[in-house]
Amino acid sequence: MVLILTPGFLIFEMTVVRPALIEIYKPGIAKQCLHIFLCMFCFINVTGNMMMSIYFDGNLKDKKLKPTEGGDYCELCKTHRPPKAWHCKRCNVCILRRDHHCFFFSRCIGLYNRRYYLLYLAYIHITMIYSTYYNYYFVSSKFKDHGFFLAVLRILNPLLRFFIPEPMSTKDLYVMLFLFNVGLIAWSAILFRFHMKNTLRGVTAHEYRDPAKNHWRENLVSVFGRRWYLAIIWPFVDSPS
Ligand SMILES: [Zn+2]
Ligand SMILES: [Zn+2]
Repeated sequence: MVLILTPGFLIFEMTVVRPALIEIYKPGIAKQCLHIFLCMFCFINVTGNMMMSIYFDGNLKDKKLKPTEGGDYCELCKTHRPPKAWHCKRCNVCILRRDHHCFFFSRCIGLYNRRYYLLYLAYIHITMIYSTYYNYYFVSSKFKDHGFFLAVLRILNPLLRFFIPEPMSTKDLYVMLFLFNVGLIAWSAILFRFHMKNTLRGVTAHEYRDPAKNHWRENLVSVFGRRWYLAIIWPFVDSPS
């Protein structure tokens, strides 16, 4: 679902919302180029970080590791594992420095993909704020007077359809998408705040009640790598920690 929705959402913004707003507001070529650049930048960072989160989960499948100090042995994976590697029942494999199992990606978040996961949440948040702003102008241009407000009420409370009868149309789909935008702003903010706080404190989602470990700067580099300044703007850059 996330694999289709995330790029699909941005493609909708670029192919439906952008041309419609150009038609209404007629911006100059410089402004149009700036928005194409910003759209592409968001698109690459959202989809790139999403794909990397899915492909690099740090699993120990078919890896025959040697015993390490403080580590143990996983009977299910038949391998030794270092400290902080845990077996995920859903993925059915051990994950290095396992943080949590992400329901939306259907993957575990661990040592190698925590950076991508956090950046995915950050970029989804930025992209949703950016698109909500323009979607508001796009959707409200489809309605007259209080039509937009009433359409929002009708979708939030379907019982109101008895009092404000109007057949469903494409306009309602646009309103639903707008509300989805707003919901994603809140969803990404809550998740990002929780996981970023844990990252800065040097703990995983399981240890969020534990006291902070190391300095926050050290914790940040251990997740985003030494080239963190490039990692935050380009998902495909190599940034070893
Ligand atoms: Zn295991
Ligand atoms: Zn998992």
